[in-house]
Parts: sequence; structure tokens; C-alpha cells
Amino acid sequence: MTNIVTNIAETVESHGNNAAIGFQGEETSYEEFWAQSGAFAAALEEHGLGEDDRVAIYLPNVPPFPIAFHGTLRAGGVVVPMNPQYKAREIGHLLADSEAKVVVTLADLVPFVEEVRDDTDVEHVVSVGGDADGATPFEEFLVHADPEITDRADDDVAVQPYTSGTTGQPKGVQLTHENLTSNATAASELIPDGIRPDDKQLGVLPLFHIYGMTVVMNATLFNGGTYYAVPEWDAQNAVSIIEDEELTIMHGVPAMYNDVINQPDAESFDLSSLRLCGVGGSGIPTEVLRTFEDLYDVEIYEGYGLTETSPITHFNSPIDGRRVGSIGKTVPGVDSKVVDENFEEVTAVESGPIDEDEADLDGITGEIVVSGPNVMNGYYRLPEANEEAFTEADGTRWFHTGDVGYHDEDGFFYVVDREKHVIVTGGYNVYPREVEELLFEHDAVADAAVVGIEDERRGETVKAYVVPTPEADVSPEEIKEYCLENLAEYKHPREVEFVEELPRTTTGKVQKFKLEEREVAAE
Ligand code: ATP
Repeated sequence: MTNIVTNIAETVESHGNNAAIGFQGEETSYEEFWAQSGAFAAALEEHGLGEDDRVAIYLPNVPPFPIAFHGTLRAGGVVVPMNPQYKAREIGHLLADSEAKVVVTLADLVPFVEEVRDDTDVEHVVSVGGDADGATPFEEFLVHADPEITDRADDDVAVQPYTSGTTGQPKGVQLTHENLTSNATAASELIPDGIRPDDKQLGVLPLFHIYGMTVVMNATLFNGGTYYAVPEWDAQNAVSIIEDEELTIMHGVPAMYNDVINQPDAESFDLSSLRLCGVGGSGIPTEVLRTFEDLYDVEIYEGYGLTETSPITHFNSPIDGRRVGSIGKTVPGVDSKVVDENFEEVTAVESGPIDEDEADLDGITGEIVVSGPNVMNGYYRLPEANEEAFTEADGTRWFHTGDVGYHDEDGFFYVVDREKHVIVTGGYNVYPREVEELLFEHDAVADAAVVGIEDERRGETVKAYVVPTPEADVSPEEIKEYCLENLAEYKHPREVEFVEELPRTTTGKVQKFKLEEREVAAE
């Protein structure tokens, strides 16, 4: 069924006594979860809110998030998830643009809402974890009743997340009930045995982001498993939770797996309860994947997608015979291809992955475009952005991912890098990811990011930021030499700088624009 809440109602029927949510050692059963999300829906309805009204959820991963999320949908509303790290200026735009009527947030974050409230349509602020001026505590807001599920059509918008704004103002992404339901269902079907009622998933990925929201929370709740909410990423804490609660599935971004293997006591962790792991959000360096798999004897399956595609479009499933380094095949029901600038399909290579160093990437790579029931309705009230994001061809509406990739004759896809990250140096294209993969293979490198910096002669030149391991005994010069020995001359970083850490988003992506800005500021 395409209505998200109907799927949850079915799980309540079939697995009412199972734990739906785990949090700090406490569990909430499906029956209790249903009652609480019903109470949130009833509260909205009592205030005259319902169909198409926007409810902003500005929370870390705590139980009120899924309760308010599914309560809003039950009342027919639209969820606007907001990053809890955002400050007043950042939420101001999201609240005004979405015309949210309700904000659910931590008591500590209420002052940020109050700061911008006059410029928005916010009528109710609901506080979690305490009282705050201008807000109603979460428990007092609830109205204990059991309202009907509001009927929603497949293409009615259910959630409106915002892009992170690395390429301009954040854009509201309109995701429908069908977009999200099809993807949560696919996320479960692509793994061995599907998600089972006895599965317990680690919930470290932020719920405001599509990966945590769909692949972890909704896919778990559609299948009677337990979603174990963890508000903040901390490798030691995550490992303790996996060990103590005997969690069976972990999803994370590459930086999380890298953090775990870089803990001083990494070899002593007992992660034997995990039956599988998933990764996405950015490409995982093969070295990190292999080390984690060897240490803990569990496979990591890579997925690929975007907020605009709800998110998964490709998955490197063991069911398809996974190939490390690939993002896998296009998921069932979704269509994808690689096109050149004239929207002509690029020929598949015989069998991937290709050795990027030797192959001429021209003519083999192009932009990955996708279509399917998971692709967003469009950006909210941004006709020009929608014009750019889609191409109509052969009766199909194709979405441009902005990622450079290629595919092989067996249907496996490979992401080379993001189009906007490509470094053009002296007429050559350098894909930072290739250089980063090499850096991760060096024993002294704990973390690395490669960016293009301005260069008078070459236009741009390659620079690597490296976080050395604590025991490392190398100089930036030696890292440069190592790259030069292993890469074509034009690709090697002409500058290597050691840093203590890399700037990352809450979803673990390196904020390359910050590294680039740093360069400009230093000039
Ligand atoms: P914004 O689009 O606002 O800049 P964002 O990058 O955080 O923000 P998301 O929708 O979270 O937006 O990310 C989608 C992008 O993440 C993809 O276009 C791709 O570049 C990258 N990505 C996701 N999964 C993978 C993967 N497995 N391998 C390589 N890149 C990936």
C-alpha cells in the first residue's frame, strides 16, 4: 500500500507487542507507538490542522521524532524535517518557505524558533525534554484519542526535506507517499531475508536525512523490527549499543565505519550480533570497507541515492552477487542510465570496475540519470530548478543526479565522483575520489579529502587534506611522493596539508566547499 501510515497500521496488527523503538535501554511497543502517534495526530486535528499542513520536526534521533512523524502523516499533514544542528538563520528560511504551522523541537532549540517566528506561519511550538518560553511540552500537546488514518493519494506529498544548500539556497524536495513507500519496501527486499521482525537496527543516521528516515526507520517499522534511536554519533557509544542490545543491522555513512576501525581498541569490539551492514551517502573507500569486514566478519552492502530519489536508486546486493567498489544494480522498479551532454546513452564497459588510471574515461562516463516511483514530484515552488533537474525523453521524465559514473554490461554501476567536485587541471579532469582512495591505502592516513584549488597556470590544481593516524611518522612531503609514485603526474596533489579533522556534515560528508573557502581566505 502506498500510504505510509497504512503500512505501519498493518505492522501494529501483525506485531503489536514487538518493540518498535528502542532508546537508552527502554523499549516502546508497536501498540504504544501507535497510541502515541495517534495522540499527536489527534492534537493536530484539535487545532484544526490536517491535510497538507506542514509540521516541522527539528529534533535529533529521539522517540518523539518517529511519533510526530507518523502522527503528522496520520492526520494527512506533511513533515518538514530540519537538521537539529541548524541555528536560527538556517531554520528561518526552511520555516518560511514551507509555511510550517507547527514545530516540534528540543526545549533547548526553542529560542532559535522564537528568534525567527515573526517571519513565519508557525502557530504552535512543541518542546521535547523540558519547558521553554513560547512552547507547549510534548506530553501536554498530545490528545489521547485514536483518530482514523486520513486518506492520501499516491502522489500526495508526505515529507518535504530540504537540500543542504551547498549549491545555493536549500530547496524543498516534495516526496510523496508512493515515493517513500516504494523505497522503504525496496530497502527491505534487497537484503538477504528482508528486514525481519526480530531485526534490531542501529539508528545512528540522522532521521532528518532521507537515508535514516526511509532506509532505517521506515523500512524497519514496515516490517515489525526495532528501530534503535541514537541521537548523536560516537563510535564507542554505537559499538556499546550494538554489543549490549545485540543489534542485527547497522547502516552508516563511510565516515562512521572509518571512525570505528580507527578506535584504539577496535580489535576488541564484539560485533558478532550484526548480520549485515549498509553504507551510502558518499562512496566508501575500499580500504575502509575491507578492514571493517575483516575485523568484524560482516559484509557491508553499498547503496546509492539522493534525497530527491527517496533515496535508493542502486544497491550492491548480495542477491545480485555484489561487486565491491560498485554501487550495484538499479533497484527493481527504478530505471537508470548514463548519458552524455546530448542526452545520448553512453556505452557500457565490458566488465567493471575499470582501472581509471589506464582507461580513457571520455566516452565511457557520463551523468547518471534515473526515473521511477521513487523520484520526487519536484522542488517546492521552484519552476526553474525543476526545469534543470529533469529531462523528458521517450515519454519518460529523467532526473539528473549530478553524478559522474559508468556502468558495465552486467548492469553494475560505478560512481566516479560528483560533477561539481571534478578538478580541471591544465585541461585534464581529476576525480578527487580516485586520489582519496589511494590516500586511504596508506597506513599513516586516518582520513583524507581532495579538492581543487586555484592555480594561475593550470586553472586548478589538486590539494589533499590529510588527517594522519596518531602513531603516524610521515611528513606531507612523503605523502606527496607516495601519490606521485602511484598516480599520473597531473593527478598527484601538489599540496598536502595535515589537519586534525575534516569539516563534515551531520551525514558524514566532507564539506569540500569549506576546504575550498579556506584556500581562498588564506590567499
Ligand atoms: P546537496 O545536494 O544539497 O548538496 P547532499 O549531498 O547532502 O546535499 P544528498 O541528497 O544527501 O545531498 O546526497 C546525494 C549525493 O550523495 C549523490 O548525488 C552522490 O553524490 C552522493 N552519494 C550517495 N551515495 C553514494 C555512494 N554510494 N557513492 C558515491 N556517492 C554517493
